[in-house]
Amino acid sequence: MKIERLDVDTFRIPLPEPIEAAAAGVMTGFDMVLVRITDSDGASGSGYTVCHLGQGPAIATIVDQPFRDHLMDQDPRLIERHWQRLWHTHHYAGRGAPLSFALAAVDTALWDLRGRTLGEPLWRLLGGHDPRVKAYAGNIDLNFPQEKLLAGASASLEAGHRSIKMRLGRPSLGEDISRVSAMREHLSPEIELMADANEAWRVDQTARAMHELQPFGLVWLEEPIRPDDFAGHAYLRSLGKVPLASGENLHTVAEFTQLITAGGVDFPEPDLTVCGGVTAFMKIARLAEAHNLPLISHGAHDLHVQLLAACPNAAYLEVHAFGLEKFMAEPLTVSEGYATAPDRPGHGIDLDMEALRAHAVT
Ligand SMILES: [Mg+2]
Repeated sequence: MKIERLDVDTFRIPLPEPIEAAAAGVMTGFDMVLVRITDSDGASGSGYTVCHLGQGPAIATIVDQPFRDHLMDQDPRLIERHWQRLWHTHHYAGRGAPLSFALAAVDTALWDLRGRTLGEPLWRLLGGHDPRVKAYAGNIDLNFPQEKLLAGASASLEAGHRSIKMRLGRPSLGEDISRVSAMREHLSPEIELMADANEAWRVDQTARAMHELQPFGLVWLEEPIRPDDFAGHAYLRSLGKVPLASGENLHTVAEFTQLITAGGVDFPEPDLTVCGGVTAFMKIARLAEAHNLPLISHGAHDLHVQLLAACPNAAYLEVHAFGLEKFMAEPLTVSEGYATAPDRPGHGIDLDMEALRAHAVT
């Protein structure tokens, strides 16, 4: 069995309306890089990564040129070997993004191909724990006036959610606190609330914010400071005010090792499309498990539901605003606060290539 064909395509997907988070600013769309790998038996698998507007073509080039030469005619079943080889032979300009994004798309395609060949869904292939995964709505709403912010939460409840995240990082902490207070009053007590500051603050500002946020009983405060300030994370966590979530902007297993061993995180939050694919995500998941930490995911919910369903320490699946529902035959649904990993082989996602082609970057 050999890898006979590798296709890589970039798509530019518009969002239904502009949305804002502190670090990224206002976003009107996102890029998606899709990799499809076909073996000598004619079976194929797909994987994708998602990034901000304009970044897709650079990531696609890494797959199309250096990675292609390493993969063609190789046995697609040796996924760990390919991951290691691509990681180490490209380390000089790699060891992180954008190489991690490119590796993610390739690695996910290889896992999907493996699952489809064996007729098994990824969640069982990766260990098989529980297909039912607790989910939450990862709303991106920093630019919304308060009324629209609350209406967004109501829409998430109607869609089946029982846990909701809102964004922080308005010009003053007072405004943030008043929006959290309005949200907490808007939601009934059994609905869980998380908050994400997307790197808006310094360590001292976060310490003050945690003091003010403590009475609201947030499940977690996410990424209040720079993602690679591990000492800052450890100090903030030691205050014991609000649990900390972080990891969506970490691109390597080594960075997660540093964050976790520094004692800097309560909820590690890897994103397989950012940190090197299914292979890397599972290494981070086991690292978190070994440190008795609950695991959450960022973005790409249709993929992550399969991975969290394999992990005994799975805590929450983020249902992200960068959705690809309109391009999928059977997109993820949430009911009573839970999502279920499908039993379809591989990652179980069948993309509508005709609909995607209208958004192709050429
Ligand atoms: Mg986040």
